[in-house]
Amino acid sequence: MPRTTTELPDALDNPDLRRRLGAQPIALFLDYDGTLTPIVARPELAVLADNVRTELERVAARCFVGIISGRDLADVRAMFGGDESADRSGGGATEADHLWFAGSHGFDVAAPDGTRTEFEEAHAHLDALGAAADDLERALVDIPGAWVERKRFAVATHFRQVDDARVPDVEEAVDRVLGAHEGLRKTGGKRIFELRPDVAWDKGRALWSLFERAGLARDDDLAVFIGDDVTDEDAFVALGDDGIGLVVADEARPTDADYRLSTPDDVRAFLAELATLLEGAAR
Ligand SMILES: [Mg+2]
Repeated sequence: MPRTTTELPDALDNPDLRRRLGAQPIALFLDYDGTLTPIVARPELAVLADNVRTELERVAARCFVGIISGRDLADVRAMFGGDESADRSGGGATEADHLWFAGSHGFDVAAPDGTRTEFEEAHAHLDALGAAADDLERALVDIPGAWVERKRFAVATHFRQVDDARVPDVEEAVDRVLGAHEGLRKTGGKRIFELRPDVAWDKGRALWSLFERAGLARDDDLAVFIGDDVTDEDAFVALGDDGIGLVVADEARPTDADYRLSTPDDVRAFLAELATLLEGAAR
């Protein structure tokens, strides 16, 4: 049963949560935009702050950490200093060397050694996505501020910079393009509409798939997921009794999470708490 974000217990300095986190090994999963960084005008500006990076490193030294993002895999890895095309022969280790990543809401997964696994069923929809992206570019040309981002397994229409009065026009264009192409579905998010393959796959399935691929077991490891957006709710539901969901929200809305963090800065503080807890347990 969904509850309201504002009635959830605060995850910071919470003795009950700390007890649960200290009782067994943790597998931590995090969304990126709006969770580890504030929502900004353009995705490329959502740079990971050094103080967040530091706390994430401390946690990743003690437990499994997986990033599950709507961004393309290469894009989200690059935000952590990892890029499979980069020449690393002269460079040192980066965060991407020991984190797991799932891009495109989990359609595309990379292990810490860079090994990739794509969700095969999504491949059949690549042509429809490409054609939909072209149609959307044309349909939105007269709406100032709207822009289309072609990702490998999705087409995002961003309207963060569109006048509120024109947003219904954006949605109408997206719906029209959706109706013209088979095998796609529309999802929403923060000032974004997304077309993606209409297959039974979401962040919840991605989370458990990543969990199993990493060799973790539900009886032994406690899955913890932190996310801020509507697509993250699929993961909160999927966790059920086998995990703990933390929603990043400073407004009242329905959620299936268990605890709340108000802002990305609270996420940083929570990571620091968790790191200290894990470092203490290891002594
Ligand atoms: Mg997010």
